[in-house]
Amino acid sequence: AQFSSVDQAVAQLVRPEIQALHAYHVPPSAKMVKLDAMENPYDWPPLLRQAWLDKLAELSLNRYPDPGATELHNALHQHLGLAAETGLLFGNGSDELIQLLIMAVNRPGAKVMSIAPTFVMYDMIARFLGADYCSVALNDDFELDVDAFVEAMAQQQPALVFIAYPNNPTGNALSRQDLIRIIEAAPGLVVVDEAYHAFAEDSFILDTVQYPHLLVMRTFSKVGLAGLRLGYLVGPKAWIEQVDKLRLPYNINTMTQASALVALSHWSILAEQAQQICDDRIQLSQALAALPGIKVYATAANFIVVRLNEAGPSAPQVFEGLKAAGILIKNLSPQGGVLTNCLRITIGSPTENNQLIEALRLLLKPV
Ligand code: PMP
Repeated sequence: AQFSSVDQAVAQLVRPEIQALHAYHVPPSAKMVKLDAMENPYDWPPLLRQAWLDKLAELSLNRYPDPGATELHNALHQHLGLAAETGLLFGNGSDELIQLLIMAVNRPGAKVMSIAPTFVMYDMIARFLGADYCSVALNDDFELDVDAFVEAMAQQQPALVFIAYPNNPTGNALSRQDLIRIIEAAPGLVVVDEAYHAFAEDSFILDTVQYPHLLVMRTFSKVGLAGLRLGYLVGPKAWIEQVDKLRLPYNINTMTQASALVALSHWSILAEQAQQICDDRIQLSQALAALPGIKVYATAANFIVVRLNEAGPSAPQVFEGLKAAGILIKNLSPQGGVLTNCLRITIGSPTENNQLIEALRLLLKPV
């Protein structure tokens, strides 16, 4: 035979850059207070749950889903108040949309660009697809030197720039003015990723009418529907039509389409939950800032980044200490650079936030 073992076949056949990758790791979280993944801590109230179950009871799964998710498309178009010339495209999470967008512009030598640190999937999916990826580093306070970014775009000529607005994992957002500068100077497509829009004030959706090379991406994940896997892209119809050609047929399954429709028709419940999280964000930030040896960063998202003082326990130690206390957060320290000694905490329910503060108080006790 051509191959003496599976290992040899794999080593010979899988692209070396794929073999060099680490698989995306999701830590086990059963029975933990889960403050690691920017989920909404609140489940649906009984009324909404019943409306959802009633809707699911009407569905049939023997047929393929509506390939264009027409009913959901129309409902969301209306919900967002989009202009007639603005189109919408759904993805199996915004992760899938990132993939489709890179596929659409990728050609030999094409570059994808963003800031660093930012959402890791821009870089990872660019690698999966054989596109080059480059970035401009934020400073220790997670601020971007916009002149340097504009300069880097002029040099690198990226086919696609992703800007997470607000940014993950830092939680802050560029100013509108800075982002406009980037959009106006970009030589290629700019995608503003508004995954955390529900917790932020500003949006670039309306700007997609004005700029021919601007698209906005959002997700249902952070507002309470992470289990659905539904993201969407907003922008000029001519762009949407092209990206749509790359979408796998039936990417949004029947249950997701129906469930999202139920969520849209009860949106005020989800909006209230998001508002509650924004209110709790103030309290949690203040409680964290009152602990010894910890620096709390400003955030426009549903999570807070803190940096541990070098004199006290390190971020990995605090992360492990919290885990032992049954609380899961995200240790950013292994990513290095400006994230050294940083932790990312998703805002939970008031009870969960209090549990976190109590556990941190024990771990950060001044000696
Ligand atoms: N964009 C950003 C900035 C994110 O932080 C995330 C999730 N962590 C996503 C996109 C992906 O969201 P989803 O695939 O769940 O829609």
